[in-house]
Amino acid sequence: MKRTVLVVNSGSSSVKFSLVDPDAGISLADGIVERVGEAESAAKLSFGGRTFTRDCRVADHDAALRVAFAMFLEAGADLADLGLVAVGHRMVHGGQRIFAPTRLDDDVVAVIAELAPLAPLHNPPGLLGIEVARRILPDLPHVGVFDTAFFHDLPAAAASYAIDREVAEAWQVRRYGFHGTSHRYVSEQAAALLGRPTAEVNQIVLHLGNGASASAIAGGRAVDTSMGMTPLEGLVMGTRCGDIDAGIIFYLARAAGMSPADIETMLNRRSGMFGLGGEIDFREVHRLIDAGDADARLAYDVYVHRLRKYVGAYLAVLGRTDVISFTAGVGENDAAVRADALSGLEPLGIRIDTERNTARSRQARVISADDSAITVLVVPTDEELAIARDVVAVLEG
Ligand code: ADP
Repeated sequence: MKRTVLVVNSGSSSVKFSLVDPDAGISLADGIVERVGEAESAAKLSFGGRTFTRDCRVADHDAALRVAFAMFLEAGADLADLGLVAVGHRMVHGGQRIFAPTRLDDDVVAVIAELAPLAPLHNPPGLLGIEVARRILPDLPHVGVFDTAFFHDLPAAAASYAIDREVAEAWQVRRYGFHGTSHRYVSEQAAALLGRPTAEVNQIVLHLGNGASASAIAGGRAVDTSMGMTPLEGLVMGTRCGDIDAGIIFYLARAAGMSPADIETMLNRRSGMFGLGGEIDFREVHRLIDAGDADARLAYDVYVHRLRKYVGAYLAVLGRTDVISFTAGVGENDAAVRADALSGLEPLGIRIDTERNTARSRQARVISADDSAITVLVVPTDEELAIARDVVAVLEG
């Protein structure tokens, strides 16, 4: 019998949802309600080869999920007929207490609420999504899948910041890592593509979307990752700065009189590609560079430089690397970023094949040359499918 999982990703101003068949490995419906809480919201659902849209005011997350269900009805998608067995919630931060996919009862929801200070931008809207979905679908099991989970047993040397230990322990300051669902899924796909068990493969995964992170995975275990206590650390991102000298924050507070909230907003929302070049979409960045825009050029160069630095660092962390995989919007689509990040690394065993790299495809594929010691792949990520599979694994105990 067909069974499906509704995967909900509830952000501060949008709610994304997908109806996934975890056994067939496909998504039957995908939708988004955007600009929740603003004067003009927009909702979209794709189902059965058709796209349904609605422009309406969606006041809050409760209204957003109700609009989503109304659109399923409008599209003729009866969730019971489609075998809906559970709801999977993408959660950002599980702290040190939740790392396995977990059935969401009142006790777990209370723990997630306690974790809000660790991820103030991400966990509260996720929690809201859980509360609303549990209210609307009270008879179905709800399962939380956490972005931090794959990194919960990072070696202490990679997870610890070199700061006062008492302070770190009292305030749970450590490197948690994010995008874990994607890093795990892509690393499993990469091993499968090589025809080897994950336990035998050492790999680097580069998840390059609007948020971006790198991970080093030795035999299936994450041994380092670029995002830290929060998703702000590491690679240059669409609007986030990635690594900076922490001293900048104190300097700006003193010299520019900026408040902690001002600085946090600047580093999260007005930095990265946007801060340097005014644009986050790499298609537009390339267009600007071609038109001679020096800011876009600098943004691109800083982005690629940081990426190369992490690849080099993780080659050293792993010692032996079998495969490097690119994934997410930029990683899957931008052949120039892939080529530039790995150019000149032949002495380290990395040789990209230009024709393979520039061929357009939606499939997981090899883009390195046959004589490259390290295999380089493009592997499309599918976080919704990975979440749906985790959910049914929880249901099956
Ligand atoms: P998110 O982190 O929001 O899930 P995605 O993984 O969907 O983001 O990545 C979105 C980004 O992917 C866009 O901002 C854009 O920079 C990049 N992107 C998407 N398509 C292309 C393309 N064809 N060429 C280059 N970059 C692309």
